[in-house]
Amino acid sequence: MTVFGCRTCGAALTVPVSRVALPVHAHQKYGNGPGSLDPVLEPGTFAVDPLPSGSPWRRWAELEVGEAEALGWYAPRFSISDGPAGQVLLAPGDVRDAVIDPALAGDSACCGLDGGEPNMACISCGALVATRIDDCGLPQAVWLDPLTTRVIEDGPGPHPVLDWTGLIDQRPGIPPSEPDGGWHPMWAAAAASALAHLLAVSGGDPILIPDHRIAGIFRPTLDRLIGPVSAAPEHTLVLAGPGLPAADGDFALVPEHPQTGEHWPVAQPVKPVPLAWDAWRHLAFHRDPKTVRRSVPILPEALPALLPGYRLEPDGRIFLSVLARLPEVRQPWLRAIYDRGRPYSYYVF
Ligand SMILES: [Zn+2]
Ligand SMILES: [Zn+2]
Repeated sequence: MTVFGCRTCGAALTVPVSRVALPVHAHQKYGNGPGSLDPVLEPGTFAVDPLPSGSPWRRWAELEVGEAEALGWYAPRFSISDGPAGQVLLAPGDVRDAVIDPALAGDSACCGLDGGEPNMACISCGALVATRIDDCGLPQAVWLDPLTTRVIEDGPGPHPVLDWTGLIDQRPGIPPSEPDGGWHPMWAAAAASALAHLLAVSGGDPILIPDHRIAGIFRPTLDRLIGPVSAAPEHTLVLAGPGLPAADGDFALVPEHPQTGEHWPVAQPVKPVPLAWDAWRHLAFHRDPKTVRRSVPILPEALPALLPGYRLEPDGRIFLSVLARLPEVRQPWLRAIYDRGRPYSYYVF
């Protein structure tokens, strides 16, 4: 088990937690309330953001030539963080003996805490140890500051790492539909990240998507970004992963392991397009209940839609931030798509 504690006084600040991969929607801002989004992480887990985060921020225009690429940014951003790398994400209920300091709540948020600066103090010594976030449209979260906290106990945690078969059995994924009929925010994030990876491997060629549910997710946005399928050579996008036949396409949507972050391996020359496990699992195995006493088989085209009625809008900010970290964005056609958006805009599609 891993327990995090205060670097200043050594007090334990979390319950025992197990490491998982940083979800693609860890930094999502979705809609405008009412209220915050559910925590990104399950109780008893933590994830580490490998990138610098938080203040101080550096404006893009002030970076030296080549500096951005050395930091893994291949397309312009408004600014990039020069803060510490390695912030630790937790579900708020797993934090112990740290309190929110009302004086540090800041005044830029709407109806909660937006987490611009650390706002939680260690009860024992008063050191600022974490940032609580619960503003509208943001996932409930506590981010531990790596400069003032550290691992005080380490070892296997409460959630052992599952193999792919175990994942299929125990982690059913997240249905795309919300009770109001809209898309779950995680799906908007997962689709945005997969779309960025898909464009990067596509070389700008048209992409054929035989599966009508996968087409329903990506086709409208792909048509807007690179135009409808034309006479040019087509590449095919299929689903691949545990429990499915070997990929029979040029590009394969493969699951990301939610604990280790590994991608399901595919054999050359198939190019993998990673998709968050909770979306992949649902696409791969969810089936609507069978209609009983039906003597005539239903054609797949006639089955009711498994996905929400209205079109998924992939998360524009997540799309741009993922794309900006893929070297392929330097290709002029893809850079032109990137430049249609702005680093802090939703409106790229
Ligand atoms: Zn609000
Ligand atoms: Zn302390």
